[in-house]
Amino acid sequence: MRAESAIIGAPMPTPIGHALAGVATAWAADLFPGDRRWRTASASASWYLRAGNGLTIACLALAVVPDVDLVYLAINSEGHRTITHSVGAVAFAGLLAAAIAVKARRPVARVALMCAAAYATHLLLDWLGADNTPPRGLQLLWPFSGAFYISDVDLFPPTVRHHILTAPIIRVNLRAIAYEIAMLLPIVVALWLVRVKALARFAAEMPRGNHAPQ
Ligand SMILES: [Zn+2]
Repeated sequence: MRAESAIIGAPMPTPIGHALAGVATAWAADLFPGDRRWRTASASASWYLRAGNGLTIACLALAVVPDVDLVYLAINSEGHRTITHSVGAVAFAGLLAAAIAVKARRPVARVALMCAAAYATHLLLDWLGADNTPPRGLQLLWPFSGAFYISDVDLFPPTVRHHILTAPIIRVNLRAIAYEIAMLLPIVVALWLVRVKALARFAAEMPRGNHAPQ
C-alpha cells in the first residue's frame, strides 16, 4: 500500500505540536519564582512584548529545531532522531543560551534552564509519540548511550513527510495536527491566562517609565 510504505521515515509530532510545547515551556517558566521582573510588560504594550518577546520565540524555535536532522535524513535515508534528539543536545542548547544570557545581562541560570527545557520538550513529545520507523524512538542518552528509546504510549499519532500532497497523506497529517492542537492548545491558553495574572503584579509594581521598551 502506498500510504503504508510512505510511513517509512515518518517522524512525529509535527512542527506545530512542537512549537506549542515550546511556547508553553516559556510561559510555564515565567510562573517560577525568582528574577522574572524583566519578563513583564505593561498591559498597553504590544502582544509581542506581553508574550515574552524574543525569548518566547527562542523557546518556540528550540522546541522545533531538533528535527533539522530531517534534512540530513533526506540525503542519507537514515540517522533521524539521533544526536539532535539527545540529552547531549539539550545540554548544548542550555550552554548556548547561558552564553547569550551573559552577553544580554539576563539571569543566566533561568534563561539556560528555560531554553534547555524548551528543547527537551521536543524529546518528550517524540518519546510519547507513535513511531513506525526502525530503529524506533530516539537516541535519548547520547553521548552516554547509543540506544534508541520510545515510550510506546503513542500519545501523538504518527505523521508522514513523504508524498505530502497526496490525499491520503494530507488526511493522516491533518488528523495528527488536529490531535496535537486539541491536546496542547488548551495547555498553552491556560498558561497564558495564569501567566498574565502572575506577571501583572510585577508590572504594577514597576516605577513609571521603567517598563520594558515598547
Ligand atoms: Zn523530532
